[in-house]
Amino acid sequence: MGDATRQTQRDPGLKQSTPAMTSGPVADQQSGLETWSYITNAQRDQDSVDGYMPLILAITGALGVTPFAVLRFLNGEWIVGVIDVGIVVGFVTLGLHVMRTRRVRFASVALALLCTGGALLTVYVGGAQQVFWAYPVIMAIFYLLKPREAVVFAVALMLALLPVMIPDENSFRTTTVLITMCVMSSFAYAFSAITNRQRRLLIHMATRDDLTGAGNRRSLETRLDDIVAAHARNPAPSSLLLFDIDHFKGVNDRHGHAMGDEVLRRVAEIVRLRIRVTDSMYRIGGEEFVVLLEGQTLESGLHLAEQLRTLVEANELVSDPAVTVSVGVAELASGESASRWLERADTAMYEAKRLGRNRTTAAN
Ligand code: GH3
Ligand code: MG
Ligand code: MG
Repeated sequence: MGDATRQTQRDPGLKQSTPAMTSGPVADQQSGLETWSYITNAQRDQDSVDGYMPLILAITGALGVTPFAVLRFLNGEWIVGVIDVGIVVGFVTLGLHVMRTRRVRFASVALALLCTGGALLTVYVGGAQQVFWAYPVIMAIFYLLKPREAVVFAVALMLALLPVMIPDENSFRTTTVLITMCVMSSFAYAFSAITNRQRRLLIHMATRDDLTGAGNRRSLETRLDDIVAAHARNPAPSSLLLFDIDHFKGVNDRHGHAMGDEVLRRVAEIVRLRIRVTDSMYRIGGEEFVVLLEGQTLESGLHLAEQLRTLVEANELVSDPAVTVSVGVAELASGESASRWLERADTAMYEAKRLGRNRTTAAN
């Protein structure tokens, strides 16, 4: 037994499986955790970029319909004029709503409904020659909504146009209108689906560390700012662990850079499988990680830190030098900035290093 252990420790290769990495139920948490940590940040970024589209549509919509409203009134077409004014007021209200609240989703759905309803009303009141309005509306709904939702809106719009279009004596024109709308919807769908996929991929790449799958420093900063802002409104405890692999340079020097990378991946895996779905992990430096424990006190942070530290040690990823971690734990104090919170955890981690490494220290 003793020999076997020594043999294992001399073996520079990584051990194949570890207790932490083979537990099934916890493995399910991984996808939850990953989804959670990236989606929250990604959603935020996506919302801030997407905010422009409803705003642009609200402005162009209002500008596009206003001349018609004026013309209708000048021509004495009061009913259509009032409809046009209603549409312009709707655009302006929703534009202001987006500017003030930055809540994109509600405004997008409301704009899609306004555009579709406005176009239908215009065609029903003004006759089949008003059908041209349906084209920009189809484009708008594919920009505003998720691709599948937009298809539902586009199909509903085309079906609702049929009662006005079919009685048109020029059946060739009716057919042309319907077919060109279908072609346009198909292009818009393809464009929207491809753009969405590319954007998700970009956000994923911008917020994730490729090697370990943990969040990167940028996504940590975004999340820390959110937590600090939420804490100012409602002071609930939140803690963070900052850990650094001990003597990692020695791992690279002795076992090679590729093995060093594998150790980083395995350490991240051990942590990821142990933490809760509501916790999140970030790689903030070469061999330095942060785990955010939202809603957890310093005491439970220290408890988890000790569990993680002993798990990493017990996994004996490589020997000589053994893979261990030094951990600093800090709970967010009232009125504290995100950088100060991180700094306190960092100081505690360096204190753990100073005291001999492979240990956990609480921040002051
Ligand atoms: P300490 O216990 O004081 O933390 O010592 P250390 O050797 O871990 O710390 P040091 O800062 O001296 O070395 C960190 C090493 O981590 C140096 C660098 O080559 C290595 N490193 C940084 N990023 C990567 C990476 O992505 N892959 C690999 N394999 N090594 C990395
Ligand atoms: Mg280190
Ligand atoms: Mg370091």
